[in-house]
Amino acid sequence: MDSRITDKLTILADAAKYDVSCSSSGGKRKNENKGLGNAEGMGICHSYTEDGRCVSLLKILLTNYCIYDCAYCVTRRSNDVKRAAFTVQEVVDLTINFYRRNYIEGLFLSSGIFKNSDYTMERLVRVAKKLRQEHKFNGYIHLKTIPGASEELIKEAGLYADRLSVNIELPTERSLQQLAPEKNYAEILLPMDTIKQQVVQAMEEKKLFKSAPVFAPAGQSTQLIVGASAENDHQILQLSNQLYQDYNLKRVYYSGYVPVSSDSRMPIITAPPIIRENRIYQADWLMRFYGFSVQELVDEQQPNLEPDIDPKLAWALRNRFIFPVELNTADYELILRVPGIGVKSAQKIVSARRFAQLNFDHLRQMGVVLKRAKYFITCQTKSMLRQEFDSLQIRNKILFGDGAKPSALLRQQLDLFRQAG
Ligand code: SF4
Repeated sequence: MDSRITDKLTILADAAKYDVSCSSSGGKRKNENKGLGNAEGMGICHSYTEDGRCVSLLKILLTNYCIYDCAYCVTRRSNDVKRAAFTVQEVVDLTINFYRRNYIEGLFLSSGIFKNSDYTMERLVRVAKKLRQEHKFNGYIHLKTIPGASEELIKEAGLYADRLSVNIELPTERSLQQLAPEKNYAEILLPMDTIKQQVVQAMEEKKLFKSAPVFAPAGQSTQLIVGASAENDHQILQLSNQLYQDYNLKRVYYSGYVPVSSDSRMPIITAPPIIRENRIYQADWLMRFYGFSVQELVDEQQPNLEPDIDPKLAWALRNRFIFPVELNTADYELILRVPGIGVKSAQKIVSARRFAQLNFDHLRQMGVVLKRAKYFITCQTKSMLRQEFDSLQIRNKILFGDGAKPSALLRQQLDLFRQAG
């Protein structure tokens, strides 16, 4: 590869790594007309699809020049970093070359704002259009929308991209004003609304006309930075919940703030809040797939998730009166709330118990994590426990097993979490 392109790639792939909103799950673009690639069933860059396959996307910025100066961003205009910019044709060529060599299965393309929003967005759209139309590329394409880009360009982007994402980054308008004063919430939410309307419209038209064009068939996503501003987990999860409801988002991604440059407006931390990010992901998962409301997980009195136990266990320990749950008779929704039982195990339990009364061996075979679930269940009215435990005892037994102490890494993360809180 030309050394000039290699240099650009080094800079622009490195700058893109802070954006985590690049899952491709849900794409179903078929290979037609002997084209190149097929997006069906793909997943996140260097990560795993729901069916367990590891796939990769070329994840780059078109440019890391930016006219904005968001305090949390490595690409901001006042940051002293090496800058580079690809041309449209260079990104197209890279994608095709990497695809042909089997390095990637798709493209995740974002950008700093070069000159102005429309100028940048128009170039992102041209990359996707060229790939689809000139190269008949059917691999996965995820385009980031540029804040302030015109509605026409967003609509055009959705004709070529599988997924579009609009990054909110900061959970409140107040934080946005402090840390990214050139952005505003209205400018961010408007394209989200446009994408939602276009997706619905395209689906309606598809029902009437088979040949109607698709629009961002893998939907839209966003990213929130955790720990860059003062919002608590309650505020973050409330916002996510609202975004899922109002804009039909496929995913909200959470990115623990990485201190990339010194700025007096940013918190002083030595490592990203990994545990907090992880707990918020778990809570998000519980809201989407386990029927939990935000208020059940965090509220005004207890606005942050507990760092040392997952939110489902924390909820169960706060609501001991609901347990034990008799797995041979309980509703599916209640079984889902038992720590150690996931969606698949709960489904297996409900379907298997129609044929036989379940015992603990059955549960083990179904994948139930009994060392966790045993404190919260009975089977045929029997418990696995020889004695009763209170919430604190259960918590300690699950956390530390037979007197084991937390690892050094966990202790370090918990300390950082507590200092930040
Ligand atoms: S607009 Fe985007 S790329 Fe530019 S500084 Fe802000 S977050 Fe970074």
